Amino acid sequence: MGLVDVKWDDIKADVLVTQNDHIVNKKCYRDSTIEELISLYKNKCAVCERDRGIELQVDHFRPQKARTYTKNPQYNNPGYYWLTYEWSNLIPLCSKCNQEKSNKFPLAVSGNRISSHLNTQSLNPFSPYDINWLKSVEIPLILNPETETNISKHFIFDKNGKMRGRTNFGNETILVFKLNRRDLRRKRIGIRNIIVDEIILSFDRFLEHRNNSRLKGSLETIFNRIVQGTYVDHELSLFYTFIFKYFDYFIGTKLITVLRAKTLDYFIEYKEENKLK
Ligand SMILES: [Zn+2]
Repeated sequence: MGLVDVKWDDIKADVLVTQNDHIVNKKCYRDSTIEELISLYKNKCAVCERDRGIELQVDHFRPQKARTYTKNPQYNNPGYYWLTYEWSNLIPLCSKCNQEKSNKFPLAVSGNRISSHLNTQSLNPFSPYDINWLKSVEIPLILNPETETNISKHFIFDKNGKMRGRTNFGNETILVFKLNRRDLRRKRIGIRNIIVDEIILSFDRFLEHRNNSRLKGSLETIFNRIVQGTYVDHELSLFYTFIFKYFDYFIGTKLITVLRAKTLDYFIEYKEENKLK
């Protein structure tokens, strides 16, 4: 891994001396680190799940620099300079998520914030760079959707692609990264519309061929694509997961009554045949 190479040891030592004034040496990230991050996160932005490949940027989940703005001061925090080159603190973000987040890192209890590596070392001398330990002390309000074990419990989508929080963590993550941005809403609505249009087309064709097994096959192809969308390497897999789980809400309600009932029957049959829940 690029970051653990001994050639960066001097830079890592320097960050502990210069602290918040340290200027990031981006060569450390270019030296294979960014490629490894992109591959680990399946070419997707770690937060919004847009597929951005090599355009993804390295973000410090705990910001490297302090934030001291007078506008929205609730987001002000010291920099986590000692985590500048810590692999587990790096996530790949698309330029929009990166820009929205900037140096924001809200905590559940702001008084718990750790502002110096010395502070960290005195509390946890064995592992001052341990992100999991830090997480237990500070409790960040923003989630990292790729590393949270049960991300779907924090969010819900409405059928127009708007994301809502079900927990304080979900709400704050939506706010900080602006997860109802126009590009994301459009993308989600586009996914839903394509599924609805393809289902209508399948029934239109059925009126011509009147072949039940052909209709079933055509609908199964659409259902298969929804299932593939829920896979972790797929763009917007969280949204696809909701479409699959709440199929009638997202898709059924967009169809006329007769098609809605028939589509739902086929969908239930498909899930039973493929042992999907
Ligand atoms: Zn993003």
